[in-house]
Amino acid sequence: MKSKRALHRSRTERELKTPRASNPERVKSRREDVPGAGDAAPVNRGAESRDVLTGLLTLDSFLEELRGRVAEARRRGRLTAVLYVGLNGVKRVNDSFGIQFGDILIRQAAARLLSAVRESDILARVGGVYFAVALEPFDTVEDALIVADRFVDILSETFNVFELADHPVGISANVGISLYPSHAKLPVDLIRYAAIALGEAGQQGANRVEVFDRERGEETRARIELEWMLRHSIDKREFALWFQPEIDLRTGRVIQREALLRWLHPQRGQIAPARFVPIAEETGLIVPLGNWVIREACLQAWKWQHTGNAGIGVAVNVSALQLAKPNFAGTVEVVLRETGLSGELLELELTESALMANFEKSVLELSRLRDCGISVVIDDFGVGYSSLSYLKELPVSGVKLDRSFLRDIESNRHTLPLLKSMVSLAHVLNMRVTAEGVETQAQLDAVRTIGFDTAQGYFLGMPAAISDREKASGASCP
Ligand code: C2E
Ligand code: MG
Ligand code: MG
Repeated sequence: MKSKRALHRSRTERELKTPRASNPERVKSRREDVPGAGDAAPVNRGAESRDVLTGLLTLDSFLEELRGRVAEARRRGRLTAVLYVGLNGVKRVNDSFGIQFGDILIRQAAARLLSAVRESDILARVGGVYFAVALEPFDTVEDALIVADRFVDILSETFNVFELADHPVGISANVGISLYPSHAKLPVDLIRYAAIALGEAGQQGANRVEVFDRERGEETRARIELEWMLRHSIDKREFALWFQPEIDLRTGRVIQREALLRWLHPQRGQIAPARFVPIAEETGLIVPLGNWVIREACLQAWKWQHTGNAGIGVAVNVSALQLAKPNFAGTVEVVLRETGLSGELLELELTESALMANFEKSVLELSRLRDCGISVVIDDFGVGYSSLSYLKELPVSGVKLDRSFLRDIESNRHTLPLLKSMVSLAHVLNMRVTAEGVETQAQLDAVRTIGFDTAQGYFLGMPAAISDREKASGASCP
């Protein structure tokens, strides 16, 4: 059996001797045009339809060729496919050794792809580390999968980008496939769907092949649309805060209200945070949005102090990305100064994962917040790391137990003793424990008996908008 090393050698040699096609006209971006390994200077193609680095077709010319390919498949009553290939790891090479070596790697990958396709297949470099292939019409999906697997195999073998020095470099690849006519009839859609499938493949892991899935594609499309809407809504003031009371279980009094973000879209109506907060987090939009929430919540709490609700504080959800910003505590301090709210009336809710993402920074920011009188609690506690032991290292003043614990308090006999021990451990650490999601009298009785300090839930008060009356009677802010 050949060793991996031998395979690597023979591959490199083959790339160096990339054959030139005898009839260039017959071959679309095929073997004749790819400079192999060692060919460091870009080839002057003299034609815009060619990618300068690899000599392959560009996206525009690929689209042109794909039209013909689709027409051919239709005429012959057969299938065709777009294979969208993405390389992972080129950035690492760029960053470690310089862009010129990343370029060599891309050329070598192009040469390998060329050696793996048939003369009649159409190959293009559609941008950066992405290639697209339109296959010669075929009959079963299996045919396309075989080619895609071959791509993954040849691209995951080591490369030698340093020519003389024998220093192999390993990367990985993913492939997304869309099929004509099952997924789309238009070339642009075929490319788009293959790119979506590539994204799916990437999420599954390295060296994966995925065929486009219409349902998943629909989800992706809806997500992209929501992201677009979100970007445009932030400036249009389509957001509002609703407030839900948190009750002291000993006195029955409201001690504070949690600010819950609502997106009131003019056409779509109310969009739930579960739907848009994750997108806002992925895109970084949560930072400006979250800053708006903190300011708005503080303004509202300041108004309560002056309209018969003195002493009632506000709790604000903060995402990991906000905490990760330099000088997060300083930003909050500025809001307190500008709104005139006392720090003791502001509580920030963070999840375990947000706090653990950068433990040292969390300790630093939380200490500074505490110096301003602001308290921090852990939201949805119990579903993440679930370890109270590290909590003593963090300046947090309480935990809000995730509402899933209350849901099965009656059905699961282990839940009650578990909650009891969690509550007593939190008390040993001097922390307040809040029960989330109290929906029934029975649950309220249970959390009281267990020894929770505070509780929140539909049974005690629904999240609600600030009423017009309340708004009208509000004191004018500083
Ligand atoms: P959370 O911080 O754990 O907020 C509690 C969620 O539980 C709220 O959902 C609330 O309406 C809901 N809830 C309250 N009582 C009950 C109950 O008795 N039963 C049930 N089934 N649910 C109850 P909402 O408003 O949809 O918010 C969902 C999540 O979105 C929040 O969970 C929080 O993680 C996030 N979120 C909301 N506003 C913001 C915000 O301003 N910034 C950030 N970063 N996240 C936010
Ligand atoms: Mg919360
Ligand atoms: Mg929660």
